[in-house]
Amino acid sequence: MKKEDCIFCKIASGEIPSKTLYEDEDFRVILDLGPATKGHALILPREHAADLFELPEETAAEVLVLAKRIAARMRERLHCDGMNLVQNNGEAAGQTVSHFHLHLIPRYQDDGQKINWVPGECTQEELENVRRELAE
Ligand code: 5GP
Ligand code: ZN
Repeated sequence: MKKEDCIFCKIASGEIPSKTLYEDEDFRVILDLGPATKGHALILPREHAADLFELPEETAAEVLVLAKRIAARMRERLHCDGMNLVQNNGEAAGQTVSHFHLHLIPRYQDDGQKINWVPGECTQEELENVRRELAE
């Protein structure tokens, strides 16, 4: 279902024009308006889901297959040297648009971008405690 006040619903449906790289019944892939690097694109499912938690499993599976295809095209045509897939969920994680989207960010040697985190430190015991919390 489309959400009335959602900008990515409007872009995905074509109501708002975008620089579209690919579209099918379920997805639209567009260029990001504020590209981190040349070719920075977003995969948008047409069906509204706010984030990964709301995304149907079937769509989640399709997204990665599509990402692989678009990434291959980027490598072939833009000659990028690498590729970051970034997917933010929730304000705490840096999500600014509440409609699931997967970033494809082509990387070029010495492109000056940083898509990183600061590695922390922890003991084996702490790791084990977290493992217990999370393992089935
Ligand atoms: P987030 O921070 O939610 O993971 O990413 C949102 C992304 O959407 C940002 O990279 C931003 O540049 C992009 N964006 C926001 N509004 C628009 C828009 O209207 N059109 C396009 N093409 N990209 C947008
Ligand atoms: Zn939406």
